[in-house]
Amino acid sequence: MASKISLVKYTNSPDSLKTGIALCDGFKDLKQTDSVLIKPNLVAWDDRFPIAPFGVYTTTRLVEDLIILLKDFGCSRIMIGEGSVQFKKTVGTHQAYEGLGYQQLEKRYGVELVDFNQSKALEFIYHDGQVLHIASEAVETDFFINFPVLKTHGQTKVSLGLKNLKGCLKLSSKRHCHHPESGLEFSFSHIADFVQPKLTIVDGIYALEKGALHFGNAYRKEVIIASTDILGADLAAAQTIGYGSEDIAHFQHYAKRHGKSLSLADYEITGEALSDHVKPLKWDWTWTKDNTGPGIFEKLGVTGVALPKYDETLCSGCSPIANMSNILALSAFKGQPLPKVEILNGKKMKGRPGYDKTVLLGNCIIKANEDNPDITGAIPVKGCPPSESDVTEALKSVGLDVNILAYHGYMKQQSEKYNGKDGYDSGLYRA
Ligand code: SF4
Repeated sequence: MASKISLVKYTNSPDSLKTGIALCDGFKDLKQTDSVLIKPNLVAWDDRFPIAPFGVYTTTRLVEDLIILLKDFGCSRIMIGEGSVQFKKTVGTHQAYEGLGYQQLEKRYGVELVDFNQSKALEFIYHDGQVLHIASEAVETDFFINFPVLKTHGQTKVSLGLKNLKGCLKLSSKRHCHHPESGLEFSFSHIADFVQPKLTIVDGIYALEKGALHFGNAYRKEVIIASTDILGADLAAAQTIGYGSEDIAHFQHYAKRHGKSLSLADYEITGEALSDHVKPLKWDWTWTKDNTGPGIFEKLGVTGVALPKYDETLCSGCSPIANMSNILALSAFKGQPLPKVEILNGKKMKGRPGYDKTVLLGNCIIKANEDNPDITGAIPVKGCPPSESDVTEALKSVGLDVNILAYHGYMKQQSEKYNGKDGYDSGLYRA
């Protein structure tokens, strides 16, 4: 029998979600005695420059709706689990819970908040003996509900149900997925072999272009897509933002292993017509033709310095540093060619000949270039990830007159860019 996928318009709480779950028979395997774990997407928390929540985080509103529906069903053992990226040791999942109102949910409904970063890990072997360490609660719960956001992603094009499960991994395994030989999408597509959500709900109140963080743009979309079939939910959700299965490698890896169809014609879509909700969103940033910097470098005439485009090996720890170096290089530009410096990140970029200095941001890229004969002057910036001040000092040391305040101003602007705009309701991210 074809798996059902429901698509409903979000109009009110909790009825829209209730309808979406009913239309896909989402609770058909749920028992009142089940332990239930809800995995929203609370990707990271930044206490200095708060991440604008729209299209980035699962709305607290819908998470609360789901808790209400589970309570009405008779479930009493409800957990919420996430393993947010820790940009700083002291700022992680619990700060995200606090900032997004989850502690009110804990008090109001007696749900338990779990930080997967602190959980016991279970070991799973996949493919050729590769290992994933997964938070035990995610695997051992009776009824896992996967609750991603409708968003694009700069490395994987979309970040939906399959990608949301990456938050169940321990840090070492998150990094393992970005290893140059693992293949990011191949690796994380295996998490669903072990976690196996009973229900996937894609929160599409907002959809995010050029995500996964708030540097892209969020649009109000007001859809909820749900299915007991994780691939079905992902296929339908991706379609609403303009992506077919042929575009998304991790869909293909998962479908091949599980003998599943990648055609939406083989699923039963209930509720609204999917075609009424399609609005293509871009996932990618443009880069200069010679791979020396973001598209804006060409527009402004920035030359000399080279920042090749981030690749799939750049893991979350280093991604703020990569973004920061782009903004800092721009801040050094005063209309004249910049020093001939190449700035690398991730785990596999190779310094190219023709640059006086090559700045290597982080332990991985230092290692990847230790015997590179094309580099004449290496400036290693150690760390996993390196610190903001070390990166800034390294860029200054190679003659770039960078201004850290320009980066702080950019981050502040990104934090505040939706303030006061119609349709961007921060109340959806409070309980
Ligand atoms: S150095 Fe950067 S890319 Fe390498 S593992 Fe650490 S955070 Fe990830």
